[in-house]
Amino acid sequence: MRDLVLPGIPNIHSHAFQRAMAGLAERQLNPADSFWTWRELMYRFAGRIDPEAQYDIAAQLYVEMLEAGYTSVCEFHYLHHQPDGRPYADPAAMSRAIIAAARDTGIRLTLLPVLYMSGGFDGRALSERQRRFGHSVDAYLSLLSTLRAEQHESLRVGIALHSLRAVPADALAEVLSAIGDAVMPIHIHIAEQTAEVDDCIAVRGARPVEWLLANAPVDARWTLVHATHLSDSEMRGIAASKAVVALCPTTEANLGDGLFPLREFLALGGRIGIGSDSNVSVSPVEELRWLEYGQRLITRQRNVGSSAAQPSAGQNLFELAIAGGLQSCQQEGAARDHLVLDADAPALAGVTPETLHDRFVFAGNRPLLRSVSVAGRVVVENGRHAQAEAIARRYRGRLQALLTDS
Ligand code: ZN
Repeated sequence: MRDLVLPGIPNIHSHAFQRAMAGLAERQLNPADSFWTWRELMYRFAGRIDPEAQYDIAAQLYVEMLEAGYTSVCEFHYLHHQPDGRPYADPAAMSRAIIAAARDTGIRLTLLPVLYMSGGFDGRALSERQRRFGHSVDAYLSLLSTLRAEQHESLRVGIALHSLRAVPADALAEVLSAIGDAVMPIHIHIAEQTAEVDDCIAVRGARPVEWLLANAPVDARWTLVHATHLSDSEMRGIAASKAVVALCPTTEANLGDGLFPLREFLALGGRIGIGSDSNVSVSPVEELRWLEYGQRLITRQRNVGSSAAQPSAGQNLFELAIAGGLQSCQQEGAARDHLVLDADAPALAGVTPETLHDRFVFAGNRPLLRSVSVAGRVVVENGRHAQAEAIARRYRGRLQALLTDS
């Protein structure tokens, strides 16, 4: 084979600032450590991030994404205000730091400013640490229209509803009616945790996905993030809606969320994409590999992600992640972004078109990319981003300061 080319991979769920706390939440504080105890640590860390820190962390993260083969990223962005909850002089300052990091590194960005209003299904006010995430519906819509006016070829702006627990039903209806039929990405965290499912049933009388499908016009504009805990009818409902499910296997494993019913969902024609979410791992290979391996461990079978039409598990999952990813990020032109693999890599010796995806997904641990092109520009050459060193230097200094400030 002469040219080993694969399409660029959309990363459809990321919280950039969390990259800086990767590996810092793995010590047991409590025998019942869970998502909820992790969240407390994450909030403490989030409290120290200002726009300059946001920029340095996002720039480092985006270099790592590009070097790993992600060519676009959906940034689910909720760190909006100052730590005490007051808006910055420019209310879009934190968003602009992310936009600048994407521009300076060359990754496509689908920015999803997050609406976050309450601290639980009962509508309680945000806690002190959540205050910098919060907006009224009016302030949120104003931020959205400011940012949407700045869209360009590689910057899309859509909306993110943090979760059903953080967005009251009337606010959700108000925002959806304000955007109407406008074509834009709409993302929401849903059914990640069993406690969230239980609370939703207790307060809204329905499971989260069941409630959402009954109360919102879920269609192909939508991305449901995680959707881990599903009944059969919820699974059928998502598949029929044509929404994409954002699967984030390394984060879901890291946080102990649970395992998505992949085989059943794919059998229904369900659409999926992958995301790096908390950014403990920045590797589409690891996401796709663990997407398949989680299923193998639970079913005690192999090649679960294959299909009757595509017997290669690697190729089937890769192609599903591209199709679902392009739908989710809504970036025109992203389908032309591409990766050129290193034909001299031992892990690719003797590769054929039939085995290329499986080699890429399952063989070894060394990065296999030679170059990465985004929007017609080569941003990674010989496996390295042109500004990797300068950006890493700034990041190291920034992290040192963040960690010693604590
Ligand atoms: Zn998330």
